[in-house]
Amino acid sequence: MTTSMTLPLWYDLHVHLRQGENMSVYIQAQLDMGCAGVLAMPNTKPPVGKVLESDPVDGYWSIENYMGQIMDAGGTAFKSVITPLYLTKDTSAEMIKNGAASGMLKACKYYPPHGTTNADHGSPLAGFIDNGVFQAMSDAGVVLCIHGEEHGTTGVDYFDADHNAEKNFYLNEMPALRAAFPDLKIVCEHITTKEAVSFVKSSSDNIAATVTPQHLLYTVGHLVQGLKYHLYCLPLVKFDADRDAIRNAVTDPDNTKFFAGTDSAPHTTKATPCGCAAGCFTGGVAPQLYAQAFEEAGLDLNDTHAQKSFEKFLCLNGPQFYGLDIPEETFTLMRVESDVETLQCGSESVTPLPLGLGMNTIAWSIKRS
Ligand SMILES: [Zn+2]
Repeated sequence: MTTSMTLPLWYDLHVHLRQGENMSVYIQAQLDMGCAGVLAMPNTKPPVGKVLESDPVDGYWSIENYMGQIMDAGGTAFKSVITPLYLTKDTSAEMIKNGAASGMLKACKYYPPHGTTNADHGSPLAGFIDNGVFQAMSDAGVVLCIHGEEHGTTGVDYFDADHNAEKNFYLNEMPALRAAFPDLKIVCEHITTKEAVSFVKSSSDNIAATVTPQHLLYTVGHLVQGLKYHLYCLPLVKFDADRDAIRNAVTDPDNTKFFAGTDSAPHTTKATPCGCAAGCFTGGVAPQLYAQAFEEAGLDLNDTHAQKSFEKFLCLNGPQFYGLDIPEETFTLMRVESDVETLQCGSESVTPLPLGLGMNTIAWSIKRS
């Protein structure tokens, strides 16, 4: 009998929908893989650095405006869309307070300065501890989505067998943040290390984490062998012990804190003569890849207990953390091989991760109910 799982529509709680003409294609790719909603990241150009159009700062889009763009591009088909505010040097406690009161502000995103694609507007963490922004978020119940990497590191501090920017961040920065704002709800985004897993597990229920398909499936060996640049994302894929820790966290039957956030990031030009854009595109294929990762972690997805763990990770824990309703509508994942194709966006195209790694089929397929 074919293995299959019928699941509630799920929320992708970390995705990049970008801007402009291609947005509608990226949104359709999310809908095609059973997404009830998304948390759409604010690292657009310009960044989504204010909540309301009337906020008195210049040079940014507002959540109000970006949400309108998402809706115009087909986002009305989602049950729920959250756009976090990009924390910048211009973010004030007042903006948080008014934004939360308006109902438009549900989350804020911290980027380490220059840490990833379009992160040039990021500002150091300490600033938001001192200027009342995190306190205002804590008071208003606004979630902090955090890209947890130490900024400004190079060489061995950035990445070697014993150190990396994420490990340093979770050991050096996060404990003090947690102690200073015990009521602040925090999502540790796209975690990649055993240190980040331990941090989340040792914290209260206010602290959770998103996990991407690529960090469950691959390690740095997969990236460097043949320089598979479609697997280049930030934070980088890490080592086997890190992947094991993440796999154990997401497959734990008692998991309530680790949930799906693909960090799917479409790039129509991924590699250039002088470098490579960070981000893996998993639109259309993410639940299939998560299922593959659960199997590679040793779970038999024919087994109802294993299916329950998968459902918690993909469909239940995330909306529960964000206070979103679990949809009654369902979709079905079947263990039937399916093709992976390039996503066409007019004259441009985006390569989904499996194809970028030389695989034009995946073990699972998806059916919308
Ligand atoms: Zn991201």
